[in-house]
Amino acid sequence: MTYPTQPQASHYIAGEYAEDTSGAPIPVICPATGDTIATVHAATPALIERAITAAGEAQRAWAALTGTERGRILRRAADLIRERNRDLSVLETRDTGKPLQETLVADATSGADALEYFGGLAGTLTGEHIQLGEDWVYTRREPLGVCLGIGAWNYPTQIACWKAAPALACGNAMIFKPSETTPLSALKVAEILTEAGLPAGLFNVLQGAGDVGAALVEDPRIAKVSLTGSVPTGRKIYAAAAAGIKHVTMELGGKSPLIIFDDADLEDAVGGAILGNFYSSGQVCSNGTRVFVHRAIKEKFLSRLAERMQGAVLGDPLDEATNFGPLVSARQLEIVQDHVARAKAKGARLITGGEVLDQPGFWISPAVFADVSDDMAIARDEIFGPVMAVLDFETEDEVISRANATEFGLSAGVFTRDISRAHRVVAQVQAGTCFINSYNDAPVEAPFGGMKASGVGRENSKAAIAHYSQLKSVYVRMGRVEAPF
Ligand code: NAD
Repeated sequence: MTYPTQPQASHYIAGEYAEDTSGAPIPVICPATGDTIATVHAATPALIERAITAAGEAQRAWAALTGTERGRILRRAADLIRERNRDLSVLETRDTGKPLQETLVADATSGADALEYFGGLAGTLTGEHIQLGEDWVYTRREPLGVCLGIGAWNYPTQIACWKAAPALACGNAMIFKPSETTPLSALKVAEILTEAGLPAGLFNVLQGAGDVGAALVEDPRIAKVSLTGSVPTGRKIYAAAAAGIKHVTMELGGKSPLIIFDDADLEDAVGGAILGNFYSSGQVCSNGTRVFVHRAIKEKFLSRLAERMQGAVLGDPLDEATNFGPLVSARQLEIVQDHVARAKAKGARLITGGEVLDQPGFWISPAVFADVSDDMAIARDEIFGPVMAVLDFETEDEVISRANATEFGLSAGVFTRDISRAHRVVAQVQAGTCFINSYNDAPVEAPFGGMKASGVGRENSKAAIAHYSQLKSVYVRMGRVEAPF
């Protein structure tokens, strides 16, 4: 069955859909059923060439517009996305498996927020004036050129918009390569941007796996690479970008700590742990998957958590009553199953879940393990699935040092009623985004990104402007030039 929102072809180049079926076929599989719902083809070298050329040509004219003119188009696109939120959410649900209950509020709407926010900022971008006696310097904030966005599979629409919006606001063009696992939604974003008045060539979508991404990263006409993906992929892309001295933004993986003190509101702490582990079936980079619970409240926490886990509704993701969907792919299910089996073998106590459902699609029930120790794989590796590891602790200093004992540094949360302790703890945890008595909020107004191996640069907020523009300093001499000879 074809849905009204189904994209018309594999790629989007120079303001229209493009196809070349000689590229390797990539089946798009609905995670809830295992059915193939579409097939796209990987971009061929000829298509890559067309996209880079179109982007380069369009970018110069785009940069010559005023910021207000650019911003108006982005804000129009935001409005169109909101008008079509339901259709876009259905497509996102079919592509990713995430429940419609989630996609209706967290995907296209979040993309629209970014287009609206950066659309508003576009007209405010300025340089500065630096007076030096009679002489002076002024700075010009200039675009980088053609930027490359490479996406992960968990938030396809959001990732495309979070990268496109600041890039376009600053006067750049973008080529976006979605994850080969969820390739459809970015094409709809491209279509909507065109409808909103974005000139052809400024936002192009090319499909393909890592090889297509790598070919784009290495092209000397690409000025910047913004990746959302895993740490191993980040290492490769960062190295390839370094060879060309390109700008980068790296939004990578995490194994974030969620610290629950004995004075926390238990109900909120349990809610935060559920939200920070099981939203999108646990496939969220910033999830608080190492849940450190103070020993004094550990059993109380676990028993209330076990009760509330009964509220997970697994079912057709298009049914709005469903609040827990499948994993994105057979491969992801295998990874999660393997971690569950290893955790059991290592003696972690399974409180609930971890059962693979005997039905088509990639289903496993959300798992909670207690009595996890720091050296177990489920406490160290990013699983990217619905597996919560509960660890216990005694003192504040101890939990801070254990929370920081990881290569990652994406997010962290603390639940406590003691405000001094809350601020003291977040000041010491090594993480780019921290939450006090909350988890996983990602408003476009706030910077988002990781410390340590979790990333370089920041998305969203005014901070993203610095990552999609460069400053030119212009020295203006008012008097004579004094030369040595
Ligand atoms: P991945 O690293 O396997 O792939 C990410 C993207 O990189 C894909 O589009 C892939 O095709 C491309 N790619 C792979 N090798 C490449 C290469 N050599 N050159 C160029 N491109 C290449 O990640 P994934 O499995 O799609 O997504 C899950 C990961 O993404 C998790 O680690 C998760 O934490 C991370 N993630 C991070 C954030 C964040 O904002 N920090 C958000 C979502 C997901």
